[in-house]
Amino acid sequence: MEQRSGTVFRKHLPSASLFPAAGLTLWALTTGSMLVLSSIACTASARATSGTRRAALNAFLRPTLSSYLPSSLSSTSRALSISRSVSRTSQRFHGPPPSFAPRSPSHLGAAATSTEVRPTQAVKLPSNDQSPNLLRIRHTSAHVMAMAVQRLFPSVQVTIGPWIENGFYYDFDTGDTKFTEEDLSKIKKEMERIIKKRLPLRREEVTREEARKRIEAMQEPYKLEILDGIKTEPITIYHIGDEWWDLCAGPHVESTGDLPSNAIKLESLAGAYWRGDEKRAMLTRIYGTAWESKEQLKEYQRLMEEAKKRDHRVLGRKLDLFSIQEDAGGGLVFWHPKGATVRKIVEDFWKDEHERREYQLLYTPHMANLQLWKTSGHFDFYKEGMFDQMEVENEAFQIRPMNCPFHCLIFKDTLRSYRELPIRWAELGTVYRYERSGTLHGLMRVRGFTQDDAHIFCLPSQLQDEIRGVLDLVESILSKFGFVDYEVMLSTRPEKSVGSEEIWQAATEALVGALERKGWGYEVDEGGGAFYGPKIDIKIRDAIGRLWQCSTIQCDFNLPERFDLEYVADDGSKKRPIMVHRAIFGSIERFFGILVENTAGDFPLWMSPVQMRLLPVTDKAMDHAQDIKKRLSSAGFRVEVDPGSERLGKQIRNAEQARIPVMGIIGAKEVESGGVTVRTRLGGQLGLYGVEELASGLVSAVESTKELHEVLEKRDEEVKKEKEQEKEGV
Ligand SMILES: [Zn+2]
Ligand SMILES: [Zn+2]
Repeated sequence: MEQRSGTVFRKHLPSASLFPAAGLTLWALTTGSMLVLSSIACTASARATSGTRRAALNAFLRPTLSSYLPSSLSSTSRALSISRSVSRTSQRFHGPPPSFAPRSPSHLGAAATSTEVRPTQAVKLPSNDQSPNLLRIRHTSAHVMAMAVQRLFPSVQVTIGPWIENGFYYDFDTGDTKFTEEDLSKIKKEMERIIKKRLPLRREEVTREEARKRIEAMQEPYKLEILDGIKTEPITIYHIGDEWWDLCAGPHVESTGDLPSNAIKLESLAGAYWRGDEKRAMLTRIYGTAWESKEQLKEYQRLMEEAKKRDHRVLGRKLDLFSIQEDAGGGLVFWHPKGATVRKIVEDFWKDEHERREYQLLYTPHMANLQLWKTSGHFDFYKEGMFDQMEVENEAFQIRPMNCPFHCLIFKDTLRSYRELPIRWAELGTVYRYERSGTLHGLMRVRGFTQDDAHIFCLPSQLQDEIRGVLDLVESILSKFGFVDYEVMLSTRPEKSVGSEEIWQAATEALVGALERKGWGYEVDEGGGAFYGPKIDIKIRDAIGRLWQCSTIQCDFNLPERFDLEYVADDGSKKRPIMVHRAIFGSIERFFGILVENTAGDFPLWMSPVQMRLLPVTDKAMDHAQDIKKRLSSAGFRVEVDPGSERLGKQIRNAEQARIPVMGIIGAKEVESGGVTVRTRLGGQLGLYGVEELASGLVSAVESTKELHEVLEKRDEEVKKEKEQEKEGV
């Protein structure tokens, strides 16, 4: 593990961390998942605190793709930071468990699918920031792995090897040697030998010249580059026994014997460019996972399996929700009818909630004169993440990477009075960003996505109420989808920032006040704010315990300045409004991916693309089925009819496999009575219902975001009770 290395992928990322002086992290509002960035952390001192900022369990999918995690860019910038500390002011907020998250499939036998998930964790998995010991284990494991590799393959050169969430990796230049999966077990065996020898880890401080001399003697050119990147002295070296050393600042365990051999596993191989530069050498990366105990490793592996079953890319195809068409290019999402139906439901709900809370909706163009993004500063700082400009009558136009400048223009369009404020403008704004193909991942990291964006322009005195309003909105929207367990982070003024001390203090107090009034616990990331203002980030916990960065609320003292936004104050003077950027989902695409993984494709009834499938048992039943379909469809339900060419058992299985929550069986009995036998995927067979009765049950279920069987069972019970009471009365 070397010092201050940076990451192999960092060049690809339009991250705030690359522009510390101007971290326009609104950019990060929705760019979404950045597993890679969590890997940066073995920089300089790799202090435990930086781990806090990375989403727990974010590397579940790492073995398959390293450029993906449920965390945000903003956490990235902090991962790079080495001097800040996190102070915990209070407990995290934990609500009741998600109402529909852990769903069990039908208990009706054959048709049950295999996506059942039990989120209960017998073993709690610590994160790097929670356990300094774990961090040492991972740190040391990386070195021991590199040492094992060089013992087995003396010509292989080592480069960087940071700890990451859930483990560690190391990049090697293997020359002509090509590592195979079998080599991984050989390397692990060698690691076990090193562990058994209980070799001490010894720290040594040397001068730059001495370090250079030693590295040159070893002929390790990458290490020389790493050494050049280290700006401070003395240079620290860690020895393992007397036979191996690397540049590192620690921390490590005292002896290799302190590593729990049965809690370490080498997971996968991947390619990575040195310094993330495709013009430079292609290196071989070995990922490993390391825990404090065998039990923890097992739990981690179990969760990995769960995550795999829920992979939104697999379910998206299986359930025909969306696709990425290689003919059209990577990172561009095609919403198929079923996915589009869910998206419409999500968007309609989002819009309605916003209007109820006195937001106004906007639509703005997908492209505009480049000048706008020069004014906003994005062109200076995020050019790499923007698509190339196109020429329109000798002027450069830009496909939009951000919506904010447009909202600023509308604000500026007329002279605003303080009486108009606060102004709340929301837009489902589709943006396009240049992402390298290697970093794309399903819906989680794409090139075109729709931000659920909004901007609030307000007076400083209104800020606290506005933030409180956003927190309420976040809760009401996210809880509707079953997300009620949040982790909240408040980030305060960084060293380099714009705006007066006064305004920073007032705004930070407003954020704190809003959080306290809301009663939400939060952590404080001192100095972790954007350069333009303090912010609140909210992560949601999914059904298998993973955290996803979704909502963000960011004060901005910069854009109003850059766009010269003003309002006329009550004394007639012109003043700048405070601008708040906020998103709740982050991006519609990514949130949809999270929804798919959270529900394992079992969308709750209210948002299920097909809510009910009618299963006609005989040809005669077909007419009755079509009639019921018509009636339910006109009442607003999404109903389809099975073509009826299969036997009932197969029809049921097909419906269950398509994750359709409600089935209506129609045979001779049903035709005669004019009703339908209702069966639900999660509640089993419920019995014969009249169509009106069924429709009213569906209405209550959808309105209460419950499942049909819950509603009908409750209703039946009430009817039974009433009857009993009547009897008693008589
Ligand atoms: Zn180290
Ligand atoms: Zn914005």
